Amino acid sequence: MENEKIVVGNLKTKMNIEEISQYLKVINKEVISEQVIICPTSIYIPYFLKQRYKVGLQNTFINEDGPYTGEITPNQATSMGIHYTIIGHSERRINLNEDDELINKKMISAVKSNMNIILCIGETIEEKQMLKTDMVLRRQLVNALNGLSIDMLHNVIIAYEPVWAIGTNNVASIKEIERTANYIKMIVHQNRGYKNMRVIYGGSVNEQNIKELNQIKNISGFLVGGASTDTDKFLSIINEVVVNQ
Ligand code: PEP
Repeated sequence: MENEKIVVGNLKTKMNIEEISQYLKVINKEVISEQVIICPTSIYIPYFLKQRYKVGLQNTFINEDGPYTGEITPNQATSMGIHYTIIGHSERRINLNEDDELINKKMISAVKSNMNIILCIGETIEEKQMLKTDMVLRRQLVNALNGLSIDMLHNVIIAYEPVWAIGTNNVASIKEIERTANYIKMIVHQNRGYKNMRVIYGGSVNEQNIKELNQIKNISGFLVGGASTDTDKFLSIINEVVVNQ
């Protein structure tokens, strides 16, 4: 699994139960690869379990166990067979004020529970215009990975998701993604001594740009938001990345 490309579908808070049920009729039949990880809104997760693809949370709590009303702990997730979680998505960093310290606590708690983590990092348009991309990525990475041993880092995948590319149709260029993926790998190597960090790209990936994006050699797959909620678009992306690999 470590060398195979993955496609992560972040369904965010999209779809009501009727739409989910239509979605699942197609997805459960057509998606037969463990390289696909679907992250539904938590209340719908039971409908997605026990299929041939994997299921992940969109977020998880800072402690493995305990009384925390409204949260989902990593231990609860693994007890249900959910072994993936997204952490640090920009929609949570921005709308829920999640900071690097909180994200680091979530990382540690999730790895202790043996979850695989998709850690999202990325710069805003203002940071990009001020040429602060590398500085922001370094800060987000170093803080999020603080205290994680090399063993734990095997369970982490970094999703480079420029905030300006999410849901905007402004996909990052091939050059930008290649350069940034190398930079992320270098920082993780320098800072944590771990050479083989996997990096995936997210931000307006769709059925039209996937062929070109999939040519990028130094990334291990894609995080797909909007297009993952449309079965035709999502299946085209999956076909390109994991079926025709
Ligand atoms: C996301 O939400 O992580 C994402 C990449 O969204 P989109 O594909 O819609 O840009």
